[in-house]
Amino acid sequence: VIDVVELCQDLVRIPSVGAEHGEGAVVTYLSELLSEVPDAALDVIEGKPDRPSLLCTLDSGRPGPALILNGHTDTVSVGADQWVHGAFSGDVDDGCVWGRGSTDMKGGVAALVAATLELVEAGGPSAGKIILTASADEDTEGYYGVPWLIQHGKLTGDVAIVAEPAGVSEDYENLYIASRGYAYARVEVHAANGGHASLYSPDRPHAVAVACRLLTAIEQDFRPSPASHGLFPAGPTVIAGDRFEGGGELGYLAEYATFSVASRLLPGAEPDDFLPELKGFIARTCPGVEVSVELGGFPQPWGPPLELDPDHPLVQAALAAVHSAGYPSARIAGWPAFTEASFIATLGIPVLPGLGPGQIDLAHRPDERVSIASLRASVQIYRELFDQILCENSIIPPRDHAELARG
Ligand SMILES: [Zn+2]
Repeated sequence: VIDVVELCQDLVRIPSVGAEHGEGAVVTYLSELLSEVPDAALDVIEGKPDRPSLLCTLDSGRPGPALILNGHTDTVSVGADQWVHGAFSGDVDDGCVWGRGSTDMKGGVAALVAATLELVEAGGPSAGKIILTASADEDTEGYYGVPWLIQHGKLTGDVAIVAEPAGVSEDYENLYIASRGYAYARVEVHAANGGHASLYSPDRPHAVAVACRLLTAIEQDFRPSPASHGLFPAGPTVIAGDRFEGGGELGYLAEYATFSVASRLLPGAEPDDFLPELKGFIARTCPGVEVSVELGGFPQPWGPPLELDPDHPLVQAALAAVHSAGYPSARIAGWPAFTEASFIATLGIPVLPGLGPGQIDLAHRPDERVSIASLRASVQIYRELFDQILCENSIIPPRDHAELARG
């Protein structure tokens, strides 16, 4: 059985920058490794040419839950900054594996694969099945991996673990049971041409002036509901103007301007609430101006928030497993960003959004690294959860499909 540290080093040494569509080489490596597992069914699926995701299904042949294990294989770019260890070195130093993607999230992928291979070595799952997914395009366009697989019916199951880092600045600092969602909206302002610029009055503002007023007001005062949540003390986040376009010629009063509104939303947020709230806010701020608002500007403009019941047996089992793997102070918490767990949760199944090695603070920066201790602990935690999920008296009850269909 391949060691989790070696596996993580190997994965880091295969560059897979998402912006360069680099996932293919990782998929080839993992396919070769997993093709040696007897009875493993491998599927390589491209949501878009050159953006392959790998699905490896390991079926016990006995009834039981289908456990989805997920990690993304793309990374962000290396960036211009100096690295102490080369970005694709995979060096081991100071108790860590170093390199781009080590924390986000090749360490997580390595731990899921290593735990699965250990389980195979020990005889495989005693009930149900594992669906191990190494998915594309999380950190670039954010659509052609997990969301695409879910929306096209290629990925389904009864319970899931996403191996994003389980801590911000410490390994297994938290057990994440919730994550914020996001919405990307496009606001378009249309103003009637006010005539000659020399006769302009700000009482009848041109489109760019209206857009700027709206942009400032939205950032300062627009708070999408729900405005508060126990696991997210900072509330929702609103950024207006990541994208902005408007105006044209000097001396010509702008008739058109458009800008983006990027929001991070708390559990409970719904698109049917969000859009009317934003439209209402805009109408109150700039009455009488023609403004259109829609979700857009991104392949997947809405990512739902996620929340698991803290009393769910999956939460309790995961918390106990984290504690006994050497992190007794881990507490239930909300993941500050978005993870693809939210898309998996739209299947109506319980999902842990960030149960993996590494620290969020170390991601997306030079000298990204993952501790060997957290890699080994992750394998232990997954093995513990396999034992409780993939067995005859699983902590995940058989799904009541009729009830799910009724919604
Ligand atoms: Zn990630």
